[in-house]
Amino acid sequence: MTHAGDDPVVTVAELEDLAARARALGEAIEAAGARLRAVHDSPGRAGWRLDEAAGATRGVIRELTAAAGDLAPEPGHSICPITWGVCPEHGKTLTGTAGRSWCRHPGCGRSWHYDRTSLACTEPVAFQIRTESGDGVLMCRGHAVSTLEQQADAVLTPVSADHADEP
Ligand SMILES: [Zn+2]
Ligand SMILES: [Zn+2]
Repeated sequence: MTHAGDDPVVTVAELEDLAARARALGEAIEAAGARLRAVHDSPGRAGWRLDEAAGATRGVIRELTAAAGDLAPEPGHSICPITWGVCPEHGKTLTGTAGRSWCRHPGCGRSWHYDRTSLACTEPVAFQIRTESGDGVLMCRGHAVSTLEQQADAVLTPVSADHADEP
């Protein structure tokens, strides 16, 4: 290995850097959309496409962040153990067709180019859930939300990055 650029190993830092670039791109697209609306009363299709483009960059950021988490399942990046997918923010609000899926929650706008509900969750652990019937289970935010909707007596305890992996 004489050149760092030739290193075949994909690092967490590299993925986080890509995510940061996607974030900057998304902000630039949103800024362009805001300028378009400031100038045009009805930005029409161009405005709509910019919204779609900005939404796509949010998807890119999520996937890159999840990929970084997959490469580094270290404390604070523990992955939710649930074997089906939810919206990372709204829980069991997904619907889909033809291999695509999206969140039905008003204003969410998240969508995926695959059937997210049928795949294992890849979100980071965010809460410990206790129900009267069971021990504490670590889950991501979306699964915690959906558990709370189904079991109102469940108790959620936020899990900080430092404690996610403690016994
Ligand atoms: Zn949502
Ligand atoms: Zn989850």
